Amino acid sequence: MFSYLDHLECTQCGKTYSHTELQKTSLCCGKVLFARYDLPRLRRDLDRAVFAGRPDNMWRFSELLPVIQPEHVLTLGEGGTPLLEARNLAKKLGLKSLFIKEEGLNPTGTFKARGIAAAVSKAQELGVTGFTMPSAGNAAGAAATYCARAGLPVKVFMPQDAPLSNQKESVMAGSELNLVDGLIGDAGRIAVAVAEEQHLFDLSTLKEPYRAEGKKTMGLEIALQLGWKMPDAIIYPTGGGTGIIGMHKAFQELLELGWIEGRQPRFIAVQPEGCQPIVRAFQEGKETSQPWANATTLADGLRVPHPFADYLILDVIRKTGGTAIAVADSSMVDAMYEIAASEGIIACPEGAATLVGLKRLLGDGFLSPDETIVLLNTGSGYKYLDLIQVSARDAA
Ligand SMILES: *Cc1c(COP(=O)(O)O)cnc(C)c1O
Ligand SMILES: [Zn+2]
Repeated sequence: MFSYLDHLECTQCGKTYSHTELQKTSLCCGKVLFARYDLPRLRRDLDRAVFAGRPDNMWRFSELLPVIQPEHVLTLGEGGTPLLEARNLAKKLGLKSLFIKEEGLNPTGTFKARGIAAAVSKAQELGVTGFTMPSAGNAAGAAATYCARAGLPVKVFMPQDAPLSNQKESVMAGSELNLVDGLIGDAGRIAVAVAEEQHLFDLSTLKEPYRAEGKKTMGLEIALQLGWKMPDAIIYPTGGGTGIIGMHKAFQELLELGWIEGRQPRFIAVQPEGCQPIVRAFQEGKETSQPWANATTLADGLRVPHPFADYLILDVIRKTGGTAIAVADSSMVDAMYEIAASEGIIACPEGAATLVGLKRLLGDGFLSPDETIVLLNTGSGYKYLDLIQVSARDAA
């Protein structure tokens, strides 16, 4: 059971590149490179039924992941998260079929673990001996832990006001923590410069081909968990967009393999009012986004003022008949309480934002009650407990 990786492809012009060498963005266009697999051969070799019998983590899909040698897989048990039916919320909202993909159960408490596990494993396989990682928070913690697992050093660059939980997990796991006076974009520029100067490999979102492959496994799992079906709509809290791009790629590959049929789900991007470059570009009919000025939101994973892969996110949303909407920070926190009280899921504010989006889109008729809808809870609320108030009455 190992990789059918065949080559890399520029998402702008289609030019192909070798997967046996270290690649970042495409040399032709400076855009995102996608991993491409030998799907016709995989289709002949394998029946989809084998996946159900394998251990419940993301490496059960090794054929569709980039690591060639099994011994190069670095794992902390990422993936294999439950797709929980949200019956109480569904009833309250008059929905037939509502699910929450509970990514809070991943190592380091967020789905960032999937992408980083894939990227660090693959980079190590190709001979990388050290990394840089700019992050709004959760990606840094994941990079620190997987690099610790690999026994390789990583220099982490975070905005000064990044959550303490992320700073602490990075330090615990032995990474070099650098706090940057600025936003994630500034941290990114410094990380790239340091990587070049010191011959380290930079793990920025979608500036190397393999984090998206790890995130893709969310889509593979959702299809498997729905009995090899796609939902009608997926609501996703969008920052850099790896998840939305990855899940769409997952369904595309499964369709080409003939393992699922039908149409792609409508992809719905939810962003905070204080940082909504994709929403604005979508509404204005643009193919790329403009940097969002003075980005502020308590949902740190969504504080990405200018996503590098904006053109891919917007393409997925439009191609699938989806949409993009912005929600207020205060409504995310309210939704954290609501999801916990009605389903027992301690969600992160980013994940809770999807419930706010769902209600809005049911209200205006964009989504209908008979659809199968999946909300992505991208991380654990346990990393964000400082947002929760305990009043004297609650404590009594
Ligand atoms: C990074 C992050 C996001 C945004 O993910 P992208 O795939 O980069 O859009 C959402 N939620 C949480 C908790 C995150 O850490
Ligand atoms: Zn190109």
